[in-house]
Amino acid sequence: MTAADRIKDKGALVLFSGGQDSATCLAHALNHYQRVETIGFDYGQRHRIELEARLKVRSAMAGLNPEWAARLGEDVTVDISGYGRLAESALTYERVIEMGQSGLPTSFVPGRNLVFLAMAGAHAWRRGLDVLVGGMCQTDYSGYPDCREDTLKAQERALALGLDMDLTLDTPLMFLTKGETWALADQLGGDALITLILEETHTCYLGDRGHRHEWGYGCGTCPACELRAAGWRDWQEGRAS
Ligand code: ZN
Repeated sequence: MTAADRIKDKGALVLFSGGQDSATCLAHALNHYQRVETIGFDYGQRHRIELEARLKVRSAMAGLNPEWAARLGEDVTVDISGYGRLAESALTYERVIEMGQSGLPTSFVPGRNLVFLAMAGAHAWRRGLDVLVGGMCQTDYSGYPDCREDTLKAQERALALGLDMDLTLDTPLMFLTKGETWALADQLGGDALITLILEETHTCYLGDRGHRHEWGYGCGTCPACELRAAGWRDWQEGRAS
């Protein structure tokens, strides 16, 4: 199969936070769709590092591959800080991340992906883009109900009907473990993409950029760092065996 066969003549909008998962999704989109744009959301995150990382990661990815650079189009950041206040949680307020009474971590922001996808759908309609690409994953997550495939299939249908367009949702990480997500990045962009993800993407809930581990930067102890570190170890061990 040649690269030309693989590329779909479609426009994709990637929900792009600048983290490991969305960088992998952007690489997937740049390998599969002719035209790729990105959208990010500022919902009043405690740490602006992730928002600042977005543009660096985007331009570094364009620098990896001239075909990717040619396909990568506009970026937009949407201010939804009103929603952030409404849905207050550990990510938007100084609250300790722990398991809440509902059985979900207090980092759960209710309805976050539903809001993101509604905004992304509206932007895709306006920009004439056919596919939304997101890094939602129901495998390693703490049971976030808006990351489940059932939820996303229902919203894909709602958006296609509500926007009266043939909009589809592409979630390449849905059934991957964190180790398999590293392997996918390697498959999509090789060592150069892995290095970019290690150096430039941000995952840590505490916004720590001062400590460099083998799996990248972060405090090393928050749930996001633990997940990223465990995934890295799984991938490394899988490659070694
Ligand atoms: Zn951390």
